[in-house]
Amino acid sequence: MISVDEALERVLSYVDVLEAEQKPILQCLGQVLAEEIHSAIDVPPLDNSAMDGYAIRAVDTVGATESSPRYLAVVGEIAAGSVPKIRVEEGTATRIMTGAPVPQGADTVVQFEHTDEVTRRSSGGDLSRVGVLQEVKKGLNIRRRGEDIARGDLILTTGKPLRPQEIGLLASLGRPTALVVRRPIVAILSTGDELIAVDQPLAHGKIHDSNSYTIAAEVSRYGGIPRILGIGRDSVQSLTEKIEQGLDTDMLITSGGVSKGDYDMVKDVLAEHGEVSFWTVRMKPGKPLAFGVMTRTEGRPARGVPHLGLPGNPVSSMITFEQFARPAILKMMGYTNLTKPTVKAVIEDSIMNRDGRRVFARVIVSKRNGIYHASLTGPQGSGILTSMATANGLAVIPETSREVKAGDMVDVQMLDWRED
Ligand code: AMP
Ligand code: MG
Repeated sequence: MISVDEALERVLSYVDVLEAEQKPILQCLGQVLAEEIHSAIDVPPLDNSAMDGYAIRAVDTVGATESSPRYLAVVGEIAAGSVPKIRVEEGTATRIMTGAPVPQGADTVVQFEHTDEVTRRSSGGDLSRVGVLQEVKKGLNIRRRGEDIARGDLILTTGKPLRPQEIGLLASLGRPTALVVRRPIVAILSTGDELIAVDQPLAHGKIHDSNSYTIAAEVSRYGGIPRILGIGRDSVQSLTEKIEQGLDTDMLITSGGVSKGDYDMVKDVLAEHGEVSFWTVRMKPGKPLAFGVMTRTEGRPARGVPHLGLPGNPVSSMITFEQFARPAILKMMGYTNLTKPTVKAVIEDSIMNRDGRRVFARVIVSKRNGIYHASLTGPQGSGILTSMATANGLAVIPETSREVKAGDMVDVQMLDWRED
């Protein structure tokens, strides 16, 4: 038996960061940047107004108060996106809107609220003049050219995962595409004579194949592209045929057929077609796990495809996916942080751990008075998929701990990361 950490290390040693691809920025969400981004422009490109108000010369407001305003001649108006043609000379002002370029001669913008604009307009007064009601500091309310980004600045570095803000940043730099590490294509195969496709009626002794769906959804969630191969039967021939269809991908994930039963054939197929390790991993659930590299045969260039053989029980397959497939997918995508977000929580139930395995218990995490609490979802059988649906976390009980008691602190891997 090997430890979870050792198994993960071995899995990761078989996958590498994939090649880069150039693509439209809106399709890059969650992908990792494979180039340095320097700005070719200043952002903002011009000095512009941070307020709706009047572009003026600060010196013209010296001594202004509410009772003794300084009056300026209004010589024009500048909307955002327009080009100012008029110069602001001594004793003059132009109306200016937020984001509009500051006209020549002006060094300050005084916002409407500090002028008599509103009373003047509501009383039908003379709009060719404006009274400034206070002294204004030079430079006020002007966003300087290049104050956010200066031309030539290094804005984003290689290895940066792209979130909405980075995608917006690329857009603001006028970059419609970006070079990013491509998404891995992951082939998914469920195995078992008892499995029936989701859209087929159940016959006696059969169950619907759910693993294909949970695994495909997880692959998508972490940024990969799932390719469902369907259901392989418990025969070497059926499995070989199906697996062959998945060998032009970046990774193959099977579920079922890796434990010690008579019909657990996945390991035989693997042994025939690839370099393979069968592991019993010191974890619960999810003890049996196969891992290897499948080699493509006829017609295609020989290339190894990492294969992760997850156990068939729906909960075990999800939990082993989280521990091994997720980090492998993230590594292929160029991520360096492969750990699941983890919090410390007070466990509210006691959990026994008699045989020195790492236990992943399904829990509901909630925050009370600033402290996380985790309670078991109920029955923890590895076939009880509803326990995963109820859970928002996996409490991790270390191999070395024989029992955790209610009230102890435990690490909880968050399945969802929300602050509530
Ligand atoms: P196995 O690992 O093949 O021995 O399967 C263990 C358990 O998981 C059995 O009860 C299977 O029926 C069940 N199982 C295997 N594959 C799937 C699947 N794709 N969807 C739902 N249950 C499955
Ligand atoms: Mg089976």
